[in-house]
Amino acid sequence: MGEENLTNQSISTRCVHAGVEPEPITGAVMTPIFQTSTYAQSAPGEHKGYDYSRGGNPTRDALEKSLAALEGAQFALSFSSGLTAIQSIIHGLEPGDHVVVCDDVYGGTGRLFRQLYTKFGISFDFVPLVDAETVGSHLRANTRMIWIETPTNPLLQIIDISALVKLAKEKGVTTVVDNTFATPIFQQPLSLGADIVIHSLTKYIGGHSDVVGGAVMTNDSAWAEKIKFFQFAAGGVNSPMECFLLLRSIKTLDVRMHRHQENALQFAKEAEKLGPVSEVVFPGLESHPQHALAKEQMSGYSGMVSVRLNADLKGVTRVVNALKVITLAESLGGVESLVNHPETMTHASVPPDHRKKIGITPDLLRFSIGIESADELIQDFVQALEKL
Ligand SMILES: *Cc1c(COP(=O)(O)O)cnc(C)c1O
Repeated sequence: MGEENLTNQSISTRCVHAGVEPEPITGAVMTPIFQTSTYAQSAPGEHKGYDYSRGGNPTRDALEKSLAALEGAQFALSFSSGLTAIQSIIHGLEPGDHVVVCDDVYGGTGRLFRQLYTKFGISFDFVPLVDAETVGSHLRANTRMIWIETPTNPLLQIIDISALVKLAKEKGVTTVVDNTFATPIFQQPLSLGADIVIHSLTKYIGGHSDVVGGAVMTNDSAWAEKIKFFQFAAGGVNSPMECFLLLRSIKTLDVRMHRHQENALQFAKEAEKLGPVSEVVFPGLESHPQHALAKEQMSGYSGMVSVRLNADLKGVTRVVNALKVITLAESLGGVESLVNHPETMTHASVPPDHRKKIGITPDLLRFSIGIESADELIQDFVQALEKL
């Protein structure tokens, strides 16, 4: 699960080296894919630290060490999906516990909380964590956790991690930050005092739209033990092949993120000038209502841009269907640009009233800006808007 803290190295160096040592038998520079479920024992109970791959696998160990180093964490545990990583944390709670969740949380996280865990007696309140000063009023005697996601999805609002950590610490409440959108390259929640960080590795960390995975990072040994126990007892681990692919992806994470952000900023600035566009949301734009907070809390703005069009669902559909370089698809964070219509796609499972209340309306598009030529991405959007 990763023990040593490698935070004295720069994040660029950690991306390339952390967790990866030449393999002792052959000297292979890249961690091999240890495609095995079990390990020979020299006598009953005597082995080299591995007895069964749900409990431990050398390729997964290397990935977990690398992930821990990225977030400046002592411990990291990896899973077969982001949602399994989230489950590993919720299983650390007890029936009767209450969780305060940001109202604009990833659709799948909301579905998991509302439809799977409520019936086990854990209650969730979805509240606007962006209004940090009002969050205290939502905490109850049985509140155990504040679930933060920032920037939020798809509205890219910025939640003040330090302010909520301060409030949570006063009340003895655990703070969890879903850092999928910002990545450890641009935001380090543990250094701001958060207790636990989670990632969907499927997105920027995987970065090539070819792996589903998740991870939890923490410096809290009690939480690390609980999460490790969930991993061992409940499973949901990623395969050695997926761990290998993720290790390969992490090597270029720093380079990719800077290109994503550069392209997203250019795309957002150009999109602001286009007639049929009524609003562009990108935390790196001065027009973003929380640009100052984003600048303080993050070292970069990542690659997600949300756009509202002066159009109804039919018009918006004509535009997305006319895009040639940008693909209409769910998910985000890959090297290729994607566009998503949150209302009918990623956020279709959010109750319609709630969707409307928080601003997920038919005119909204969410772009995951890739690492192609930014000029060609903008040209693609401009030609598609002509279909309106
Ligand atoms: C995709 C996503 C998840 C869920 O991760 P999976 O890998 O799809 O299970 C959680 N949080 C955020 C912010 C995401 O974008």
